[in-house]
Amino acid sequence: MVPLIDPFARAISYLRVSVTDRCDFRCTYCMSEHMTFLPKADLLSLEELDRLCTAFVRMGVQKLRITGGEPLVRKGILTFFEAMSRHLQSGALKELTLTTNGSQLAKFAEPLAALGVKRVNVSLDTLDPAKFTQITRWGRLPQVLDGIQAAKAAGLRVKINAVALKGFNEDELFSLLDWCAREDQDLTFIEVMPMGEDMGEGLRLDQYWPLKDLRARLSERFTLTDLAERSGGPARYVRVEETSQKLGFITPLTHNFCESCNRVRLTCTGELYMCLGQEDMADLRAPLRASPDDAVVEAAIRAAIARKPKGHDFDYTRQRVKGQMTRHMSHTGG
Ligand code: SAM
Ligand code: SF4
Repeated sequence: MVPLIDPFARAISYLRVSVTDRCDFRCTYCMSEHMTFLPKADLLSLEELDRLCTAFVRMGVQKLRITGGEPLVRKGILTFFEAMSRHLQSGALKELTLTTNGSQLAKFAEPLAALGVKRVNVSLDTLDPAKFTQITRWGRLPQVLDGIQAAKAAGLRVKINAVALKGFNEDELFSLLDWCAREDQDLTFIEVMPMGEDMGEGLRLDQYWPLKDLRARLSERFTLTDLAERSGGPARYVRVEETSQKLGFITPLTHNFCESCNRVRLTCTGELYMCLGQEDMADLRAPLRASPDDAVVEAAIRAAIARKPKGHDFDYTRQRVKGQMTRHMSHTGG
């Protein structure tokens, strides 16, 4: 099968799949407190998700990241992981992984590890229990910390993703770093992105803490060495020499990473977003449901990839949000 190559000669080898728009948390930068979720009938069934992801794997996708919403609250999610693990066994898929808020990891870590998951990204912005509940609204820190321990006990490698929020976790920069060093976890900071409409939480711009400022603060105490490692996405890595830690920075707004972009995003309703920062998407649910013949959906995937844009439009530099997206992060899964 001819691999997926976009018009800018980028091979598409990485698919992020949002399996649900629902979540057991309501992080202020991600969702409003009273979210309206999609009608269940609009969601792809687990079998449909399997068919679609399998088509992508056939067409050259080697890395699959399961996300959401909270992927582990989707009913029957292990059935889906089990289905995907057959592509690991065949060697077609090199990595099956997930991004989670950690709340359900105590229950799922072991079965996930048994199905071939080796690494998990856990989102955690603060180590203060009160602040944790403030930012997630419904989350409880001890439950997430238990989940992280369960993941490690099951042999999973844990990476912590922390959204850098001005006036919220600025003062925890060093304590988060220390904790990750002690726990032997990688850590990545993410710049807050202008996703979703105004949710009454104030503009995202107010929470914007540029990672170059965060980096400058780290440099006052530590020696940071840039690493050449690239993921094909917006992450850049440094080594903290004094602690030998690898630290990631995801700066989708201030850095141009689009030239090496290797990924597309599938929503739980079968919309394929070719770029996180653009509105254009292709509906794959209709061709999927139109015919049991996978050639139809494969043609739809190829047509979509042929429309993958060169880059995104996010720009905070003029003190206003240009290219602001109206969809929530929980829709495309980040
Ligand atoms: N529920 C899972 C979780 O929290 O890890 C997976 C989905 S969540 C949408 C994926 C990632 O997007 C999380 O790391 C979250 O912190 C991040 N995120 C959500 N809204 C964001 C925003 N406005 N800007 C930057 N990152 C955001
Ligand atoms: Fe849920 Fe993740 Fe969004 Fe928080 S960031 S509300 S945990 S989907």
